[in-house]
Amino acid sequence: EQWAAAVAAVRSAGPDDEVLLICHVNPDGDALGSMLGFALGLRRLGLTRIRATFPGDFTVPEPYAGLPGLDLLVPEADAWPDPDLVLIFDVASESRLGGLADRLAAPRSVVLDHHASNTGFGEVRLVDPRAAATSVVAEQLLERLGVPLDAEIAECLYVALATDTGSFKFDMTTVAVHELAARLIATGIRPGEISRRIFDSRPFGAMKLTGEVLGRAILDPAAAGGRGMVWTYATLSDLERFAQPPYVLDTLIDPVRSVAEADVSVVVKEIGAREWAVSLRSKGAVDVSGVAVSQGGGGHRLAAGFTGYGEVRDVVDAVRRRLDDFLN
Ligand code: 5GP
Ligand code: MN
Ligand code: MN
Repeated sequence: EQWAAAVAAVRSAGPDDEVLLICHVNPDGDALGSMLGFALGLRRLGLTRIRATFPGDFTVPEPYAGLPGLDLLVPEADAWPDPDLVLIFDVASESRLGGLADRLAAPRSVVLDHHASNTGFGEVRLVDPRAAATSVVAEQLLERLGVPLDAEIAECLYVALATDTGSFKFDMTTVAVHELAARLIATGIRPGEISRRIFDSRPFGAMKLTGEVLGRAILDPAAAGGRGMVWTYATLSDLERFAQPPYVLDTLIDPVRSVAEADVSVVVKEIGAREWAVSLRSKGAVDVSGVAVSQGGGGHRLAAGFTGYGEVRDVVDAVRRRLDDFLN
């Protein structure tokens, strides 16, 4: 009945109503893609006062800077202060809404998400932990609203799907995922071009930075009950030295997680003084979402994250200890 409630909530909005869409801080392809794809769908329904936003630093990572629907995106400060309807995308907990969490007090709020760790906030909750991406949930709601897919909506949803499945590589890449991808591609979008833009268009400096960060990686074969852990870290001064924007640090986990000798991979990314965004990945045996939740973060079984404090060593030691706890 959550689906019916979600449809009713969206249908209750008229052309004069203010609709606010929000995704998580430091947005990734799924957050931006599912939010903007859905926002374009709302426009097709005749809604006119649509704004999309995310909390914190208003920088759209370069790989997503060409997404359709970006004209609907405004900085946090320009988000409707008292929206009639709020829709929230890819947000596992209220903390990921930053200063926008107060918009949950809107008369109607719908949460679209796929995190197992979702804390259950919001009036209507479309949370499907089996969905490969929030865009899968967004597309289902668009379908129930009778919004046909067009190439612009499809491009947004495809970027979201390709991002969260690691280019259709991860375990949750099901038949349904490929069927959705097929329907999106049928609108005329160009998967090769899109993939090149989001995965294979890094500045030269980003490659050099990656080399530096991978060069300091450490393999700890005894960690995670002998399953092995590989970890590295990147600092704000690394970014400065190679003149790279912060999103580049979020791409580092991919080469790190490819290490065969480690089940668990960790990248510790400096975001402030003694403050680190930590990315965790598992190949299967270890549930890293439990580790992340124990540190105040969240995510999925095989991909999770949290904010850590202190020295890099402290942050990594905390992860190593929690891994042992969870395996004992
Ligand atoms: P990533 O390592 O790519 O930033 O994040 C991996 C997964 O963990 C994503 O699903 C993301 O939503 C979740 N995640 C990352 N950092 C945090 C965090 O600080 N808090 C919560 N709740 N989830 C996080
Ligand atoms: Mn996300
Ligand atoms: Mn997601």
